[in-house]
Amino acid sequence: MQSTDKERIEIFKLKVIEWYKKYGDTYLPWRNTSDPWALLVAAFLLRKTTATQVVKVYEEFLRRFPTPESLLEADRYIVEELMRPLGIEHQRSRHLKELAEHIVRRFGSKVPCDKEKLKELPGVGDYVASEVLLGACGKPEPLLDRNMIRVIERVFGVKSAKKRPHTDPNMWSFAKMLVPNNLEEARIFNYGVLDFARKICTAKNPKCIKCPIRDICCYYMLVANPKP
Ligand code: SF4
Repeated sequence: MQSTDKERIEIFKLKVIEWYKKYGDTYLPWRNTSDPWALLVAAFLLRKTTATQVVKVYEEFLRRFPTPESLLEADRYIVEELMRPLGIEHQRSRHLKELAEHIVRRFGSKVPCDKEKLKELPGVGDYVASEVLLGACGKPEPLLDRNMIRVIERVFGVKSAKKRPHTDPNMWSFAKMLVPNNLEEARIFNYGVLDFARKICTAKNPKCIKCPIRDICCYYMLVANPKP
């Protein structure tokens, strides 16, 4: 029996949430904080490195620099030394200090809970702004990156007309419609889609055979397991 679009969306949310609770990376510390500064720090540290590497640095970084002011006042060499295990420490340190300076000078040391204001911060685009809104501001926003886009396109058979789908307002609207209104569920759902995309619905050779949502997936029905 064909499920309706509404039913498919509900099944998708439920299955992703269930999957994340069993197999997701729930231990990542930046997924368990509501401190907007900590979320920004994590987003900057995670660039061009792995979560495993960042876990080793993140907590010590926040212990030493728990606020934008403390980072702004810190000696640049001490900041770089702390981030050396992640690589590109000069660039990382400079970007984080610029971020801290902007928060202190422009927003009186308080990270704003407003998407447009967040995007005024250097190095903050739609995705990082959404991470802060979702994790610290009580707003059930989608974390739309290329991984989430891939899953959405495959499961729902939609395709962005833009070359850079993560800048497509239609994709943002579609993704927003998928996010549960309940904040806790919204967080679990978003983190679930990201992990699911990395571990199951991979860019190459998706693991459709062990996928819990294959029954509602357009890609599975049309490409991976077409009916004769
Ligand atoms: Fe991705 Fe395959 Fe699952 Fe569809 S069935 S969501 S393509 S892993």
